Amino acid sequence: MVKDYTFIRKDILTRTVIFEGVIETVSPLRIGAGKNDLSPTSLARDTVLKDKDGNPVIPGSSWKGIFRSTGERILRGKNIEVCTGVGQDYCLKIKRKDDEFQKYLRENIIDRAVELFWDYTCLNCKLFGTMSVLGNLRFFDSTPINATLGIRTMIAISRTEGAVASHALVTVEFVEPGSTFNFKLLGYNLPNYAIGYLVSIMKMIHDGYVQVGGHKSRGFGFVKFKELSFTSTGKSKIGDEDVEVNLNSVKEKGDAFFEKMKPYIEAFEHVKLDYPKK
Ligand SMILES: [Zn+2]
Repeated sequence: MVKDYTFIRKDILTRTVIFEGVIETVSPLRIGAGKNDLSPTSLARDTVLKDKDGNPVIPGSSWKGIFRSTGERILRGKNIEVCTGVGQDYCLKIKRKDDEFQKYLRENIIDRAVELFWDYTCLNCKLFGTMSVLGNLRFFDSTPINATLGIRTMIAISRTEGAVASHALVTVEFVEPGSTFNFKLLGYNLPNYAIGYLVSIMKMIHDGYVQVGGHKSRGFGFVKFKELSFTSTGKSKIGDEDVEVNLNSVKEKGDAFFEKMKPYIEAFEHVKLDYPKK
């Protein structure tokens, strides 16, 4: 029997899932505008990232990084092999399959490239993407529904020495607790276990095990999903190893959403992955 590689195929679209909802900040939140204003030795003004209209945003690229690193923690906790995806630490490189993979792509031997990518990459490489391969997820920028900005004067700690520098006061702009943002995530050709994996990540964020943005040690960055919806269109099972779930639409407030999505979380907990190979 030919293996079903739908999950990693980019030439067909058999399932689309959409997560949409509202994020509420439960502590101050700060997504920085860049590193150029982070001088620890001057009275720096540290502003939050804003869109062209001056509204604070949580960029999709930030969500992607948070989801990937949180997922990594979950997978390591389950003793499932996973790479960090940072720098040279990605599966194809670690497994020394990089050159072979590139060769198949160059010579347009797509079947072999797909087979090799399946066998020698972790769930995160497949979902979030890696060198020369796009992932299956699209994170949208979160824009405010109702957000208030605040300013706090803090003592900046030198990052290199861990010492308090002289004249080290910094005015830090942040998003006030109780602010709300929209949230949207699209997924393509996702197996049920991958949906359950994403829901597990979202639950970690919701339950306060993960912080978003900067000043984490000062207690910044806790957010909750005030409400969330999930819709799936197309096939309801993707790939040979996937676990059956029949639940195509859920719309709930916070905790109730995660309760209703349990069948997907269970699909993730019960799946036996045949990748990455040693
Ligand atoms: Zn990987």
